Amino acid sequence: MIVTSTIAAAGMLRALRWPNATVPVEVSEGVLNSSHVHDIHAAMHYLNSLTCLKFVNATQQQYRVVVESSTGCGSLVGHVGVGEYQKLLLGASCFLQKGIVLHELLHVAGLFHEHTRPDRDQYVRVVWTNIRKDKHKNFVVPSWMRKSPDLVNLGLPYDFGSLLHYGLKVFTIDQERPSMVLRRPHEYTGLVGQRDAPSRADVARVNRLYECWNHYLGDDLPGAKAYLVWQAATLTHELSHFHTSDIEI
Ligand SMILES: [Zn+2]
Repeated sequence: MIVTSTIAAAGMLRALRWPNATVPVEVSEGVLNSSHVHDIHAAMHYLNSLTCLKFVNATQQQYRVVVESSTGCGSLVGHVGVGEYQKLLLGASCFLQKGIVLHELLHVAGLFHEHTRPDRDQYVRVVWTNIRKDKHKNFVVPSWMRKSPDLVNLGLPYDFGSLLHYGLKVFTIDQERPSMVLRRPHEYTGLVGQRDAPSRADVARVNRLYECWNHYLGDDLPGAKAYLVWQAATLTHELSHFHTSDIEI
């Protein structure tokens, strides 16, 4: 039986994807310094080498991602497709660690934060009382995800090492205390919230979302569902159409 919510969630996932698995990006010299422009192109090329999604230089005519300078770092999730372009905000602080630009490009690709997966409460406890009120939204699991966890998790295991997982002290009120706590601390001893490079599961997430069957799909990751099994059970459903504009991270 096909559950309606699964079809709806599959529609949401598909709506996130860039047409033809191509993301046109406009990076204007003059908005950012040349070193930052170089870093953005390097991040685009790096992701291009790992997945079938292609970040390319945009022409003026195309719907595109326009990189703008800002005080912070921020992206919408996936292809919004409203108007002529969508913004990707990258301030100078976003270039202090290699993985920050990559993190934002993974949002552009269509990935949400790992700590807002529908199953995250099994892995982390969110300490709401120690999170700034204006940042609570960054820790909320979208309601549509909760209805179809197997689908939206892309058949891949929870990943503390994801480039899309926040660190455990992000947006805290009392900076001595955490905003998230691991449920089973022995389970993961690495750095949560790394901003170095996409994890293997991050790469697999992009490849599963875009059905890049000839790229790395994460079948060997402990706890992963085999891609073909996951895909048959989920993405191949007839899909409704949904708009996902203005999901801001
Ligand atoms: Zn983010």
